[in-house]
Amino acid sequence: MPAPLLFVLFGPGGAGKGTVAARLVEQDPHLWLSRSWTTRSRRPGEPRDAYEFVDRATFEERIRAGGFFEWAEFLGNLYGTPVPRPPDGADVLLEIDLQGARQVRAARPDATLILLEPPSPAVQAERLRGRGDDEEHVRLRIETGLAEVAEGRTLADETVVNDDLDACVAAVTGIVDRYRRARTSGAPPDKGS
Ligand code: 5GP
Repeated sequence: MPAPLLFVLFGPGGAGKGTVAARLVEQDPHLWLSRSWTTRSRRPGEPRDAYEFVDRATFEERIRAGGFFEWAEFLGNLYGTPVPRPPDGADVLLEIDLQGARQVRAARPDATLILLEPPSPAVQAERLRGRGDDEEHVRLRIETGLAEVAEGRTLADETVVNDDLDACVAAVTGIVDRYRRARTSGAPPDKGS
């Protein structure tokens, strides 16, 4: 059984990471999406299993116990990826922020970092409003997002702009396939965009 590959989808809020990640695992039974922990409250209408929603004390206890592969504080809330335990034969997909991507790069230089960019701040703001973020949060996330994209481009192996969802999912699927083929052949993957 080959070692699992590690794919990281990262980028600013409103880039559509969650939607793209959900589509990827829906169409690919050999891709396993890690479920993060967060201290953020659940948004109205957000699925109960979107995260493991915990209080800060519980989160901090797990940090102390060494139970996170990576974790970060983002706009006042903690988010973390439990040490991944994928089923046999599955590759791992993480959907995290830039700070997490940085930690993954340091811990696992072999990981494939895929930066998902929103097509424009206007579209990004619409997506954030659409899921119920208030105006102050939208403003903060757009501002943070510009810096995240700038640094993300220097960190990423691959960059995809999420303009059209189907095209974006197809592009990320193509990247996953390319890195899987490289694992099989032993040759380094051709870098994309
Ligand atoms: P949201 O509150 O919108 O669900 O997530 C805020 C940000 O935290 C998003 O950029 C999301 O991708 C990121 N995030 C979600 N889970 C994790 C995680 O486990 N680790 C890190 N570093 N970021 C995460």
